[in-house]
Amino acid sequence: MAKAPTLQTCPRCQSNKLMPQLQVLDNGMYSIGDLRVFFGYSNPKALLRKGEVFGVLRATICGECGLAELTVKHPSALYLAWQKAQAKARER
Ligand SMILES: [Zn+2]
Repeated sequence: MAKAPTLQTCPRCQSNKLMPQLQVLDNGMYSIGDLRVFFGYSNPKALLRKGEVFGVLRATICGECGLAELTVKHPSALYLAWQKAQAKARER
């Protein structure tokens, strides 16, 4: 699995003061702590345990202009899970 390329310089101001892979916090009451993106259900017809597929966000932030780039952990695996969730959602 190819590792995602990381920014070396800021695409907006060309600074090299980048802070990579920062945790994006979700402090909601029932949160696991990380802000996440929802990609769909692996088993949408189930009443319980629908198999929610989430990706954990990470931010790379420029220490000069503040530009923030968000990425998810494990994008290749998430793409496969998203494709399966899309197919399952179309099933009747
Ligand atoms: Zn910048």
